[in-house]
Amino acid sequence: MELDSLYQEVILEHYKRPQNKGLLPNQTVQVHHVNTSCGDEITLNLKLTNGVISEISWDGVGCSISQASTSVVSELLKGKSSDAALSVIETFQAMLQSKGSDRGDESILEDGVAFAGVAKFPARVKCALLGWMATKDAISQSLALTGNNAKKEQK
Ligand code: ZN
Repeated sequence: MELDSLYQEVILEHYKRPQNKGLLPNQTVQVHHVNTSCGDEITLNLKLTNGVISEISWDGVGCSISQASTSVVSELLKGKSSDAALSVIETFQAMLQSKGSDRGDESILEDGVAFAGVAKFPARVKCALLGWMATKDAISQSLALTGNNAKKEQK
């Protein structure tokens, strides 16, 4: 697999020094996602406070793409509102599913654009998306939960 060397460096950097790795105990929800085609596994804890992602922490095993990509998404979406976060995830997903024609918008995706080249390798797209889909799932589940408890939290 050939990726831009600058992008390769970004991915390697996140793989070697993953952000937010190590599960924090105070989560709204915990999700576990697996990419069986590569053997990647991610457990992700997400805390939603008044509609804002106040914490994302995760742990996982797998290839450098899956682990680095989860590091990037955890860093990028922490502090964002659930709506803004879901929109960023959609942008990333569109880039990965473009087969390489969408190079990604760096002002939205930041380090996430490093995975643009992965879109040309269908077998690896699931690796790059794993952490993002786990985060999307965690946001949806958190919204369903906190929606029910919104009144309680306001007290
Ligand atoms: Zn993988």
